[in-house]
Amino acid sequence: MATGIGVNNVTIDGQNIHIEWNDGHKSEWTATSLRISCGCAQCVEEWSRRQLLDPASVPLDLKAEDYLMVGRYAVQFLWSDGHFTGIFPFDVLRDLCNCDVCKAEREDE
Ligand SMILES: [Zn+2]
Ligand SMILES: [Zn+2]
Repeated sequence: MATGIGVNNVTIDGQNIHIEWNDGHKSEWTATSLRISCGCAQCVEEWSRRQLLDPASVPLDLKAEDYLMVGRYAVQFLWSDGHFTGIFPFDVLRDLCNCDVCKAEREDE
């Protein structure tokens, strides 16, 4: 896992969310896919890591209304379904990156 990873820029573009990392890497997700990955206590049972959120309940046209940097380690999104308790640490976000480079790295492991 990368240490000292940071986010230079978060851009909300309609239903898409773009992140530019401090190492020059770029990630892109739909709001829906990130919302489904939310790890907060309402979405994931803490002790079992069981997903409480029904992915089918997340609207496909979900958007991020806004975001907030949490210290130097995480991003918090305000979703258009009213959910805002999910905090995405940078390393979690980076693990969720779907780009070809990250996919290939994961397959190597
Ligand atoms: Zn959540
Ligand atoms: Zn990537």
